[in-house]
Amino acid sequence: MIDRLIKTAVQSNGKYCVGAVALDRKGGVLGYASALVDDRARRRRSLCAERRLMIVFRGVVDRIYVCRTNRSGSRLLPITVCERCAAMAAKYGVTIVTLG
Ligand SMILES: [Zn+2]
Repeated sequence: MIDRLIKTAVQSNGKYCVGAVALDRKGGVLGYASALVDDRARRRRSLCAERRLMIVFRGVVDRIYVCRTNRSGSRLLPITVCERCAAMAAKYGVTIVTLG
């Protein structure tokens, strides 16, 4: 799972390589997401990997593991969950676990 998470993180198109995986209550993998920066939007907006998962798997996601890597994916870097994601996680009852 961690290898897949790192591969996902490297696919991020923004400044930071962040990958996240969503798990259900039984620990089953629901899906993976990388951080996404939408350059086509009039106001450049970015979507955290963990927030994308909470939107897609709303109601079934129990916990999310998040990791940040360097561009090559060879190293894990420290990451903190942003305020918007933390607020959303609290609202939906999702536990976010950061790796690295
Ligand atoms: Zn966030």
